Amino acid sequence: MDDGKKGIKNFIEMAIDEDLARGKVKQIVTRFPPEPNGYLHIGHAKSICLNFGIAKKYQGRCHLRFDDTNPEKEEQEYIESIEKDVHWLGFDWGEHLYYASDYYERFYFYAEELIEKGLAYVDDLNAQEIREYRGTLTAPGKVSPFRTRSLEENLDLFRRMKAGEFKDGEKVLRAKIDMASPNMNMRDPVIYRIKKTAHPRTGDKWCIYPMYDFAHCISDAIEGITHSICTLEFEDHRPLYDWFLDNISIENHPRQIEFARLNLTQTVMSKRRLLTLVSEGYVRGWDDPRMPTIAGLRRRGYTPESIRAFAEAVGVAKAYSVVDSAMLEHFVRDDLNKRAPRVMGVLHPLKVIIDNYPQNKEEWLEAENNPNDEDSGVRSVPFSREIYIEDDDFMEIPAKKYFRLSPGREVRLKHAYYITCTHVVKNDDGTIKEIHCDYDPESRGGWTADERKVRGTLHWVSAAHSVKAEIRLYEPLLREGEGDFQELLNEGSQTVIDDARLEPGLGNVKPGSHFQFLRLGYFISDPDSSDGRPVFNRIVGLKDTWAKVSR
Ligand code: ATP
Ligand code: MG
Repeated sequence: MDDGKKGIKNFIEMAIDEDLARGKVKQIVTRFPPEPNGYLHIGHAKSICLNFGIAKKYQGRCHLRFDDTNPEKEEQEYIESIEKDVHWLGFDWGEHLYYASDYYERFYFYAEELIEKGLAYVDDLNAQEIREYRGTLTAPGKVSPFRTRSLEENLDLFRRMKAGEFKDGEKVLRAKIDMASPNMNMRDPVIYRIKKTAHPRTGDKWCIYPMYDFAHCISDAIEGITHSICTLEFEDHRPLYDWFLDNISIENHPRQIEFARLNLTQTVMSKRRLLTLVSEGYVRGWDDPRMPTIAGLRRRGYTPESIRAFAEAVGVAKAYSVVDSAMLEHFVRDDLNKRAPRVMGVLHPLKVIIDNYPQNKEEWLEAENNPNDEDSGVRSVPFSREIYIEDDDFMEIPAKKYFRLSPGREVRLKHAYYITCTHVVKNDDGTIKEIHCDYDPESRGGWTADERKVRGTLHWVSAAHSVKAEIRLYEPLLREGEGDFQELLNEGSQTVIDDARLEPGLGNVKPGSHFQFLRLGYFISDPDSSDGRPVFNRIVGLKDTWAKVSR
């Protein structure tokens, strides 16, 4: 793991330093190049933090470029969500917003240049044949019978492809490199295909579209990118990236550097699979709090600070690995611990009646907002004769080491009084209806003059003052194990509690507010909240399973 804070540089920064030292580059320019065919996920966040982070560190700049060369799957909704997510993470591309589709004329120009240099040809083989002719990792490919067309014929056919004279798939333009190359990407890769599909930005202007490998390196070069940082699966494409740029008349030649993709346990991390979850209705939408999308993480309650800290801690690696989701949770817990106000809420209410407390009395007790933040101050919470506690904070016959409420036992109510259980009242079916207690008026504020000890401290809300709330609890999207993600889907990934009770101050908070519910975890108010009917998502519980094993 790399630790930027200690000043240890990762291999990408070392490569950049090297290029700066030998004067190859002056100002560092990076880019984040998403394809607008879905919402961004935490893997993209890693790439965003890396690219924008490096630009910042080196006082350079980072571009946002939509890689929109595939007209069929791309949508405006995705473009808008991507811009929103990058901004939300805390990064800004300034005036450097680009679209690969802005460069269609340039791509076309360079394709003709390759033809004129005898380095590209129009092929009539269909997709199936091209695949067969390509050979395998152990056997060289076979040369297409159309590979020897003259420059004039190639140029004429390519222009006619552009003019729409041929059907989809009837012809392609290919680079003329080496059908026997040990690198399959170099076996005359396709550069242009015919696709009579309108493009969201260029409309019907084009019916031929460039392939990714061709468009990407040229886009980088046009924009003056110095370091083109991408994921490991493009390592084998680097010779092609360099070949294109070496063979066209463009000056800038960015350096491609690869790092390992971020993967997390018990979730899916590809836009295609995430789209399946959304379109098949497994989740509420792209921003479902269970989704590893940035929109989902935001709605779940993750903060930009926590995601940036996570990305930094993960570092960059050259080898594939899967990061424990508990590590991501650790960083949001760490962040919210410092700043989330503490409040009380009861998820599974059990009525407690304090018999020796006056019938119509109410008191407003002082409660600290955050012991970790001196400036956070205090608030008042109401106390009265009838309260709710968590139903598992009472056991009629206490188990060993159970120190919470049970008959005859005294416990502390946080910020309030000591209470002792006197008896239990049951329903006809034997379930518990309510608990009866007596309180010690001398214990106001949660301590007594005789310093008598109690072993349990419970959270609670005043019944009459409390607000009903919907609480959504989450578990990982996937169960542990190996196999197809659809078979691993965790049916219990969401639990909805619709009659939780919260302290009254939580009745009308604006969506997106973070809290620590004492003893229960961190929560955020959800946009589904309505007047007097708040909805909260649990972000994470209080227990840190990652910090324990790793420190
Ligand atoms: P997916 O496979 O999830 O659809 P993608 O790589 O096709 O992802 P792009 O929109 O092409 O998505 O990616 C934009 C940038 O984000 C690329 O530079 C890509 O390398 C990077 N990226 C995508 N997934 C990850 C990941 N899991 N970890 C780190 N970087 C990633
Ligand atoms: Mg992609």
